[in-house]
Amino acid sequence: MSLFLGILASILLVLLVFQIRQRQQLHCWLETPEKEIPDGIGAWRDLFSKLHQLRREERKERQSLYSQLGHFRKAAQAMPNGVILLDENNRIEWINTVACRHFGLDASRDIDSKIEHLVRQRKFYEYLGNFRLGTVQEPLILSREVHHSTRILSIVIVSFDKTDAMILSNDKTEIIQSEIAQKDFIANVSHELRTPLTVVFGFLEQMLEDQAQVENPFLPLMISQAKRMSRLVEDLLTLSRLENSSSPLLDDVIDIPGMIEILCSEAEVLSNGSHTIEIEKIEPIRIQGNADELRSAFGNLISNAIRYTSEGGVLTISWKLDENCPSFSVTDTGIGILPEHIPRLTERFYRVDKSRSSATGGTGLGLAIVKQVLTRHQGRLDIESEIGRGSIFSAKLPSDRIVKI
Ligand code: ADP
Repeated sequence: MSLFLGILASILLVLLVFQIRQRQQLHCWLETPEKEIPDGIGAWRDLFSKLHQLRREERKERQSLYSQLGHFRKAAQAMPNGVILLDENNRIEWINTVACRHFGLDASRDIDSKIEHLVRQRKFYEYLGNFRLGTVQEPLILSREVHHSTRILSIVIVSFDKTDAMILSNDKTEIIQSEIAQKDFIANVSHELRTPLTVVFGFLEQMLEDQAQVENPFLPLMISQAKRMSRLVEDLLTLSRLENSSSPLLDDVIDIPGMIEILCSEAEVLSNGSHTIEIEKIEPIRIQGNADELRSAFGNLISNAIRYTSEGGVLTISWKLDENCPSFSVTDTGIGILPEHIPRLTERFYRVDKSRSSATGGTGLGLAIVKQVLTRHQGRLDIESEIGRGSIFSAKLPSDRIVKI
């Protein structure tokens, strides 16, 4: 009996030692999972083989995640835009080669640095600050000196993953330089045309005074075409002056009601009694801005209303507050405009009906000038129109331009 108990105890001891060893092997492997999984015996074999299988699957998944990540990184590297990923403290988490080139950064050196310490430009700093405050913004145009050449970048910042941010940069140097060259060319050509036009006018005026020439049937046509060309040259010069960002906006205190009075009497002359010109409401609001520019913009709106409203039509002019913003509007009972044309009206030379516009003596630049003037005053042009019934053109200015009396 005691022999039997002795054998049983020895078997139990062997089994216990075996279990402890297997447990130890499992424990060891859990501590250093990079080692091979041990071979088990019995139930332990099933457990180890299950673990083996799980580990294989996990490796495969990890491999696939790595390859996807690598794929995304390659895609972001291949993008023609610069990409910089920032954490919530504006530290650089990742940057692609194009962004390194745009901002003069080095991926291996600058990761984890704060972007404001590397791109030390006030405009950029403010833009980033406004983005963090949640203000929606237009793209920022930023000039950067990189490797002794000036690049003009268009920058946008978008948020992702709650607090992280992504900076996207686009090199616009060539496009902007070609736009500048185009504008300079137009300004120069217009300027050069001024003198010959003055000479032609001089001769035409002399011909008008010459009895032998006054009967010439071509003379009125020559005079009207010369006048048209002169208006075109003047409008082109005005537009290039307005588009030149270096020309400063003079901030006079303007008596708009007084200005409207003068514009209305000019409108009466232009209409020559063919229209009724009414004043709906003129509030005594004075604003800060450039008087010459605003006179030209408001005058253009009135002259358009006259030119695109047939005889007997009514024009209504008002100057009042619209949601606290000063607004100058001209309402007419004219031909109206189809909705598809409205977004394009402020483009240079965009005309709904080309033949009609040239017959009315327009240059095709009136609304482009209005838009530029309003943009320089942080304002905007609103257009409402219905074909056959008329239009409302409203020039809206920001409330902070109001001068308190
Ligand atoms: P234009 O010299 O041709 O009048 P503008 O830039 O002043 O050039 O206007 C652009 C176009 O917008 C015009 O050609 C015309 O088709 C349209 N337009 C402008 N104002 C009015 C209006 N009050 N009523 C109808 N159409 C208008």
